[in-house]
Amino acid sequence: MASVHTLRLRLSNAFLIRGERPILVDAGSPGEADRIIAAIRGKGVEPHTLALILLTHGHLPVTGSAGELRRRTGAPIAIHAADAEMLRMGHNAPLRPTCFTARLAAPIVQGGRGEPTHPDLILDGERSLRDIGVDGRIIETPGHTAGSISLLLAGGDAVVGDLLMGGYLGGLVRRRVPNVAYFQDDDDAARQSLRMILGSGARKIYVGHGGPLAAEQVALRFGLARARDSGGTMRRAD
Ligand SMILES: [Zn+2]
Repeated sequence: MASVHTLRLRLSNAFLIRGERPILVDAGSPGEADRIIAAIRGKGVEPHTLALILLTHGHLPVTGSAGELRRRTGAPIAIHAADAEMLRMGHNAPLRPTCFTARLAAPIVQGGRGEPTHPDLILDGERSLRDIGVDGRIIETPGHTAGSISLLLAGGDAVVGDLLMGGYLGGLVRRRVPNVAYFQDDDDAARQSLRMILGSGARKIYVGHGGPLAAEQVALRFGLARARDSGGTMRRAD
């Protein structure tokens, strides 16, 4: 069964998924390729064995080193069709802050620039990863961005990118407390996506900042049943 290893980076997490072949989920900010490669090696995986660089969405803190990592590992880059343009541009689309802190941070986050990068695989719809030896599937989980995706693994682990945030101050404080991400394009879509994740049987939820989160804590925090939903929209409570 595939295992998830969190690689804690400067602004965000990336994840090494170890199935029959390893894959990298998310690729850090610009300039973090060395750190990611060292972290992968630290887990006993040779970077050239990576089967895929899977991007949960198009924001720069998770795409910034994707091009460099592709050159150094040979692994193809996959991103959802709706976020591919951000990767190609090398910067974020306009961000919608969800709280005061995010409004303060927005100009800095919005101004970031990375390497324009062309993806190798464009995702659209659900996709199994069994063909590359990972017992799991990619599902569409829009909300944070239109092209956000999540990885559901057979053992109950889910990697959801910025569908949620763990803790406060970008995940630095109380990182296992479920929270809304600083930026979210569509609250209702995010709520629906979260309902799908909880309904999938996920037990441990890995997020782009802080975490991981326990599914039952997430369900409590957002008033969602793990099997079915009670309705309403997903909003920040503070
Ligand atoms: Zn993001």
